[in-house]
Amino acid sequence: MNDLFSGKLFATDPFEPTAAAARARLAAVRPSEYARTRNHLGGAVTRLSPYLTHGFITLPETLAAVLARGPLDVQHKFVYELGWRAFFHHVWRHRGVAIFDSLHAGPLPDDAYARTLPADIREARTGVPVIDAAVRTLYASGYLHNHARMWLASYVVHLRRVHWRAGADWLYGHLLDGDLASNHLSWQWVAGTGSSKPYLFNAENVARYAPPAQHGAGTALDTDYGTLDRIARGGPLPGAEPAASDGRIAATAEPGLSSQGEVEGTTAALPPAPSAAMFAGRDVWLVHPWSLRDAPSDLPADALHIGLWLDDFHRQWPWSAARWRFTSARMAALTSAQYRGDASAWREALASARSVQGWRDPHLGDSFDGFDLQPPAPLFAEPGTCCASFSQFWNRTTRGVQRASELLPAGG
Ligand SMILES: Cc1cc2nc3c(=O)[nH]c(=O)nc-3n(C[C@H](O)[C@H](O)[C@H](O)COP(=O)(O)OP(=O)(O)OC[C@H]3O[C@@H](n4cnc5c(N)ncnc54)[C@H](O)[C@@H]3O)c2cc1C
Repeated sequence: MNDLFSGKLFATDPFEPTAAAARARLAAVRPSEYARTRNHLGGAVTRLSPYLTHGFITLPETLAAVLARGPLDVQHKFVYELGWRAFFHHVWRHRGVAIFDSLHAGPLPDDAYARTLPADIREARTGVPVIDAAVRTLYASGYLHNHARMWLASYVVHLRRVHWRAGADWLYGHLLDGDLASNHLSWQWVAGTGSSKPYLFNAENVARYAPPAQHGAGTALDTDYGTLDRIARGGPLPGAEPAASDGRIAATAEPGLSSQGEVEGTTAALPPAPSAAMFAGRDVWLVHPWSLRDAPSDLPADALHIGLWLDDFHRQWPWSAARWRFTSARMAALTSAQYRGDASAWREALASARSVQGWRDPHLGDSFDGFDLQPPAPLFAEPGTCCASFSQFWNRTTRGVQRASELLPAGG
């Protein structure tokens, strides 16, 4: 267990915005170690999520790279977790914008929850060590371990009675891997508005999976599940932690979010809008922040490789400077020009092109439906109707499958 908290495993190496960095992470995946340790904050998780969210790699490529080094049963934990990502996207495809509201009633009515995230959470000074550490890690690295995300979300919703949507919007903005389906539906899963019961955790659970400095003895977490359940269902909330209320914890500044990119060389410096003259009569390969991978080799040699930033998306969903840097650096490597504009301006400009191709992604909405944007190959066959739970999705998509390689095109 000590290994799990050693400097080596606990290191927060940076995310480089290159294809080589994504390949290196794939090469570093250790499926058995992953299955054994993934719940520990220092466990052998892959840190592939920024690369998956931004389309450096797809789910089938991820699995194929791992299987190239040895076979896995379809029920292996690693394959199962890729299934969660696919499930959340399946729900998004079927439910659309409904995922931004509670999918069903939770333990309390929506209006029982506060709509803004309290400053002590945003500033990492709640006095609950595992929560404050998560917020500081989030701001410093743009990444959080899955267990830290679950604890943070559960604390916000159930112990502070803040609406899941306030927490989800805030977390999304600061993550490098922020994915509207995985993020907002995970918050709903924790809140109990997308799952059958609220997700609760206590100090004993934290002590099992987090390093000693983050244990919660003596805090509001130091209680039994019956008490936590009563709080989640409307019982009296715990008071402020002593360490937080006497001002012993210094505030951590929340990094700003921007709807336009705010660092040199990113969208802020780009021409404001594309125009029809730029694309007239040309073949266009469209690269957007969710498709940051190499273009197919069969494009016309003189095709324009154009980077697309969607102003209307980012007005609603601003990003951290780190995420702008991560995505725009990769975009610059893949394109000869980048522009930014509203979807309507893009549609008008692209209408003059001879052809427009690229990858489809749900973050684009239906704005580009008239162009030839193809969905990336799925890893799990679409079940058709919307599955009510992950287990239903998993059972339907893996029925009759034994080896994970059977999920890949042509059976791997
Ligand atoms: C409150 C909350 C918010 C979240 N927000 C996001 C988000 O914005 N973007 C995002 O990609 N994931 C999100 N997740 C899911 C999960 O926490 C991350 O995908 C995972 O921690 C990423 O780290 P990793 O690549 O090292 O994961 P690993 O454990 O190494 O897993 C490998 C890959 O499998 C997928 N995966 C693993 N666990 C999950 C899961 N529980 N749900 C969905 N996919 C999973 C991811 O694509 C991940 O990259 C959220 C989870 C919670 C509880």
